[in-house]
Amino acid sequence: MENKQFRVLLHYHYVTIENPEEYTQQHLEFCQSLGLKGRILIAHEGINGTISGTVEQTDQYMATMKEDPRFKEMVYKIDEADEHAFKKMKVRHRPELVTLRLEDDVNPLEVTGKYYSPTEFYEAMQQEDTVVIDARNDYEYSLGRFRNAIMPDINTFKELPEWIRENRKQFEGKKILTYCTGGVRCEKFSGWLRKEGFEDVAQLHGGIVTYGKDPEVQGKLWDGQCYVFDERISVPVNGVEPTVVGRDYFTNEPCERYVNCANPECNKKILCSEENEHKYLRACSHECRVNSRNRYISEHGLTEESVQERLEALV
Ligand SMILES: [Zn+2]
Repeated sequence: MENKQFRVLLHYHYVTIENPEEYTQQHLEFCQSLGLKGRILIAHEGINGTISGTVEQTDQYMATMKEDPRFKEMVYKIDEADEHAFKKMKVRHRPELVTLRLEDDVNPLEVTGKYYSPTEFYEAMQQEDTVVIDARNDYEYSLGRFRNAIMPDINTFKELPEWIRENRKQFEGKKILTYCTGGVRCEKFSGWLRKEGFEDVAQLHGGIVTYGKDPEVQGKLWDGQCYVFDERISVPVNGVEPTVVGRDYFTNEPCERYVNCANPECNKKILCSEENEHKYLRACSHECRVNSRNRYISEHGLTEESVQERLEALV
């Protein structure tokens, strides 16, 4: 077992927080006083965050949170790390923990799918009349997903309910399994599915990151990497037979390197090799390449002539 100095904690908890705005400020000061970095969302319905810090700092965080009756039961997924996974400490107040923008909000404390352990999930995935739905954004499942998962044809999580309604026939009468990174999105999404009338709904308890650490399943049936919302960008999951499913946006070759489109108005996440980043001016389309605010062009101080040369080389 290696002994690293830092840790990354992933944690969420659905619990009623009175005066969430006030708590947001308090929590920020608390995190800063410990020297933590990361991103935490606070809502009336709970807390959701990823933070990094030294072993001592993160121990202190968890110990203090445990003393608060509201967060006593909160579960932490802990990764060892060589350094911080964030540059700053941000704590933000939000109307909801995950953005579903439902007309009729779901409270996971009242209705949610069954919780499946990694082993239960692994076994259920292989049964007939079972569908596995990836409850994440497209740029997340493009980098990795469960082998037979359905990837809804949507860009962001909030479009998921509408997509399910349109494709309802595919799921009727079946066992539905859902999963996401750490579990926070599935708590709501599986609750929403139940409210929609689907009876047999289960969620991967602790999410993909827990599944990857489970000594029994060891990430089996997962292909590729798991996208994470910190500077690491991705973490491995399948410890038995790792594969690469990410594909270069331009050439379709195996690739697990994410960049953001250099057009700040687009900012789309695209998988691309270093070579193609230079070749395509780190932009997803011709319009983004020639956008006057293209960051790649300014970062590299390219002259108009050299931009023109690269554009011509693409024709
Ligand atoms: Zn773009």
